[in-house]
Amino acid sequence: MSTATQNKLLSFAEARLTAEKYAGSLAATDPELTNLLDAVGLVLAEDLPADRDFPPFPRATRDGYAVRAADVQAVPVQLSNVGSLKAGASMEESAVSVGAGECVEIMTGAPVPAGADAVVMVEYAQASGHKVTVTRAVKPGENVVAAGAEARQGIVMVPRGTRVHHAAVAIAAAVGRPEIAVHRRPRIAILATGDELVDINLPPGPNEIRNSNSYSLAAQVNNAGGEAMLLPVARDEANELALLLGRGLNADLLLLTGGVSMGKYDLVEEVLASLGAEFFFTGVAIQPGKPVVFGQVKLGGKTTPFFGLPGNPVSTMVTFQLFVRPVLDALGGSAPAPLPFAQAKLKEPFATKTGLTRFLPARLSGTHEDPEVEVVRWQGSGDLMAASRANCYIVVPPDREKFEKREAISILLF
Ligand code: AMP
Ligand code: MG
Repeated sequence: MSTATQNKLLSFAEARLTAEKYAGSLAATDPELTNLLDAVGLVLAEDLPADRDFPPFPRATRDGYAVRAADVQAVPVQLSNVGSLKAGASMEESAVSVGAGECVEIMTGAPVPAGADAVVMVEYAQASGHKVTVTRAVKPGENVVAAGAEARQGIVMVPRGTRVHHAAVAIAAAVGRPEIAVHRRPRIAILATGDELVDINLPPGPNEIRNSNSYSLAAQVNNAGGEAMLLPVARDEANELALLLGRGLNADLLLLTGGVSMGKYDLVEEVLASLGAEFFFTGVAIQPGKPVVFGQVKLGGKTTPFFGLPGNPVSTMVTFQLFVRPVLDALGGSAPAPLPFAQAKLKEPFATKTGLTRFLPARLSGTHEDPEVEVVRWQGSGDLMAASRANCYIVVPPDREKFEKREAISILLF
């Protein structure tokens, strides 16, 4: 166990690993049966098995004619049309069978009838009365998905631990599940600290600013499948801080902002230490966000992880994504999602200083063949406008200071 006075400054990679490893030790919240659409963004607490074969019948994937492929090798060839099948055809309609020299008109999504083993696209057939002339050969199985080819009845189509996204919703719907078991949203207490802060429904004095971090954090928390619980702003005063901090520790995770730098009134670490906190790191060699703190407090049989995020708004946002997110993921029942890194070409050259891994607010644009990125001009990590113009961060390794126009560079999406 370390105390706040011990400085634990980690590299970005070490700190991320620390958060991921800690996440691996956490128990997820309890499962709750939830309406399908309310479960979007939460994590499946059960496997979703196929209730029948997918597809349940051999499915035509094109409009055209169901044929015996063996009949349609030498073309053109003339076949006799013996029926017509649409998607949702009745059992009587689909009881038709295709004999040698025969075909059945068929629509996308209809069951391929007995005897047929391929579908000729309508583009390669000309109908004249009951005769159909096919002008292109087909292979057995062409334009048909065999029953059970996508999933056999009983196999798991979406495993537990998956965050429910639109495709998982489609599967839940397809297997007839209006409700699914997902982990309860972890409750994340948010405590902003600072004498200069006023809440957003009050007029700020000349030297005061509105508390924006609690709200940006709540947005990030809710987006990540958590339930944000905003505590009142804490003054930079140890007793008040300890009191509100104590309330925050009842949550599944406590996020503090501000008060973790080296200033005279940066009391967060000190107060946490007085509550017996264990610190995993007390700083990370990144910019923005260097003073970020991560640890846990054991109180009355309950262990609560906490992060002390730097108060500068962009630092708060970045450190949430880099370090809080994996812990929130684990509490919510999923393995930490990897950070979404990608590459793009620099639109303009830029220079920075070495020593820290930097996450610079940036704008990704361009095309799929030529993604381009440029740094957003900013006044430093307090610049909210820069943050809101950005749609990614440029990631600068600690040993680089100059970048050329058109150089490929790493970006972090959000
Ligand atoms: P601190 O980390 O407490 O030293 O604060 C760093 C900077 O972030 C200062 O300029 C603060 O005024 C600002 N700041 C701290 N907390 C918040 C907040 N909740 N909302 C907006 N700005 C904040
Ligand atoms: Mg402060």
